[in-house]
Amino acid sequence: MVRQRTEIGQLPAYRQGASTPGAVKLSSNENPYPPLRSVIDAVAAELGDISIYPPMAAAELVGRLAERFDVTGDEIAVGAGSVEVAAQLIHSAAGAGDEVIFAWRSFEAYPSLVRIAGATPVPVALTDDDRHDLDAMAAAVTPHTRLIFVCNPNNPTGAVVTGPELHAFMAKIPADVLVVVDEAYVHFDVDPDSADGLEFYRTYPNVAVLHTFSKAYGLAGLRIGYAIARPEIVENLRRVAVPFAVTALAQRAAVASLDAETELDERVQHINAERARVTTALRELGWNVLSSQGNFIWLRTGDDTTQVDAVLREHGVLARAYAADGIRVTIGDPTANDLVLTAAAEALAPVA
Ligand SMILES: *Cc1c(COP(=O)(O)O)cnc(C)c1O
Repeated sequence: MVRQRTEIGQLPAYRQGASTPGAVKLSSNENPYPPLRSVIDAVAAELGDISIYPPMAAAELVGRLAERFDVTGDEIAVGAGSVEVAAQLIHSAAGAGDEVIFAWRSFEAYPSLVRIAGATPVPVALTDDDRHDLDAMAAAVTPHTRLIFVCNPNNPTGAVVTGPELHAFMAKIPADVLVVVDEAYVHFDVDPDSADGLEFYRTYPNVAVLHTFSKAYGLAGLRIGYAIARPEIVENLRRVAVPFAVTALAQRAAVASLDAETELDERVQHINAERARVTTALRELGWNVLSSQGNFIWLRTGDDTTQVDAVLREHGVLARAYAADGIRVTIGDPTANDLVLTAAAEALAPVA
């Protein structure tokens, strides 16, 4: 019998959002719009070069991002999706015997990524209103803590951490513990009270910010994300990165997306308008939905989760159900969202 790490055999495999022919997939927080023509053209122009390795430093993209966020290029690390950058952050900070704190429920990849690094995940329950319990997270810090994820807005609940809350939290965190603000949904966040990761990055040397092109920019299939962190941390992220994981196609598409930010922002505004419409309609139906600042909403279905998920499926909607907890439903196009509302009206009927 070949010896393998026992903790790996115990890991759940990452569960891809469900998809079935004919059903609408609202299970992975993907952008409902097709890629922009300009982005497709930029990728197509790069296809002739797929026989060569991509530029590892991603200099053009890094330069553009540096300009965009008023930082230097040595403060930006790219990866094959921000999930890979999250892995880089964990691998460079935490190993066997070290602890990584995150809210729970939050992004599903955190616990596995921490285990894969050989470190110990420390999940801290959300508050009763599905927000980060920053007091409990600060209290969970031990001499073994190396990294803390703050997911803002939180996937899957859509709740935000406010600026004053995050400042109060940072005051309690040792300066040698890295706090990673995961802003995968920052473009959809219009709450003026929400903490601005970049502002925290500029204030605290032990803050890093994680961004992705997958959600608001619609590049989930090309895999590209990045961290903004102090140069000495970025150097380590580059050391642990999988060589050549970020393709030239992805780099091109990211640059073309930055060129098209105005157009992409209009799409984000349409998605947010749909989010508001769906939230209002659900509340009118009697659902207790919190205001989400992501491109998804969170149905707190508790013990009824399996039953409600079944009704969604009957209406051709594939969402992401977390048994005995809730269902995360991505905001899709208006037709898809109408299906969700029809299903939600029916699912509530037995309870109401
Ligand atoms: C989707 C998501 C990511 C990562 O997405 P990538 O496609 O790997 O960039 C990271 N964090 C959160 C909270 C997410 O929901």
